[in-house]
Amino acid sequence: MPAKKPAGNPRQKEGSLFAMAQQQFLAAAEAIGLEEGLRQVLGACKRELTTSFPVHMDDGSVRVFTGHRVQHNIALGPAKGGIRYHPSVTLDEVKALAMWMTWKCALVNLPYGGAKGAVACDPAVLSVTELEDLTRRYATELFIIIGPTEDIPAPDLNTDSRVMAWIMDTYSMMKGYSVPAVVTGKPVSLGGSLGRYEATGRGCVYTVVAAAKKLRLNLEGATAAVQGFGQVGMVAARLLSELGVKVVAVSDSKGGIYSAKGLDIPAVMAHKSKSGQVSSWRMGDRITNQELLALPCDILVPAAFEQQLTASNAPKVRAHLIAEGANGPTTVEAHKILGDKGVFVIPDILANAGGVTVSYFEWVQDLQSFFWEEEEVNERLRRIMMRAFDETYAFAQKRKIDLRLAAHALAVNRVAEATKARGIYP
Ligand code: GLU
Repeated sequence: MPAKKPAGNPRQKEGSLFAMAQQQFLAAAEAIGLEEGLRQVLGACKRELTTSFPVHMDDGSVRVFTGHRVQHNIALGPAKGGIRYHPSVTLDEVKALAMWMTWKCALVNLPYGGAKGAVACDPAVLSVTELEDLTRRYATELFIIIGPTEDIPAPDLNTDSRVMAWIMDTYSMMKGYSVPAVVTGKPVSLGGSLGRYEATGRGCVYTVVAAAKKLRLNLEGATAAVQGFGQVGMVAARLLSELGVKVVAVSDSKGGIYSAKGLDIPAVMAHKSKSGQVSSWRMGDRITNQELLALPCDILVPAAFEQQLTASNAPKVRAHLIAEGANGPTTVEAHKILGDKGVFVIPDILANAGGVTVSYFEWVQDLQSFFWEEEEVNERLRRIMMRAFDETYAFAQKRKIDLRLAAHALAVNRVAEATKARGIYP
């Protein structure tokens, strides 16, 4: 991950992300007739920690970084959610992502609440030592709120199993004994789960398979474009191509490539791991991320950042099926435009729930110190994703609403039920 060059690719900001999450929540609250008191409880973030902390840089200087950890809701269990490193992260964004984690976990019936964390930094310009020191200090700052029964971090944008190992070790050093269940997405050698790395992309493809059946779309020979060639997009592209889908375009932060004949995904993956980018691949045409989103294809997988499909580019989308590998890639306005065009959108909290689902498996395995075969992990993941898809689809049909509203309504209802059953303390 850390190479000494800037990450670039400023993410688009189309207004407050938390306002977007709130809008989606309120639409769901309306759909299920949620009472006012519960709207207030579930609409608010329970805990928000912001911390500024110093890190020794390699040149001898000291730099202060700012990080956050937000626990949106813990009615159903410990808070759960990833940690992202990116120069432009804000508390507003972390609050939105934490709220989405609450709904995502509830939708796939995991005994978790929702959380998210972030540090404003560009890991691409930090050395490995700087990145480790930053991570260990951030983990120390979070020590007061994280833990295997309190709040369990995981990887997200620009963080990986190595970052999780540092967090696990830092937390364990402070406790005086090893606590593998404090984070998920760890290396397998430390109690990580087989299948966790691929889980988000794999889960996303399971939902595409389910949606294609509903749409009577034959995946053999269907075409797909994947935005983002990181942990989610790369795996989704590979698994789609293994199913016979022609992946005609992929992109990363530096741009994309397009070939109407279909790309050789394993070869593009090898090129990306060598050169750090897909757009210098020798085959196909160079395209921008915007061009990718507007390509003629059956399936579009936005698996990069939030707010990529907006009111300005949604009218140009030509795909029939969108599977949201990223969190919040579609603005509220864009969602409406896509709905009016009849695009079948598998919403983020469903399409990308595979990651946290296998995080849950990892946590269960760590707590039991009993580890599963990869086939068992994948099969359990498939069953959970299929059940969540079927429940969401059935609810959407029954209520004549779209899948995003159905997914949010089901999830909000589950958290509301638990909150009501528990009552208000004291
Ligand atoms: N960062 C992932 C997500 O947004 C995974 C979170 C987790 O495994 O806790 O769903």
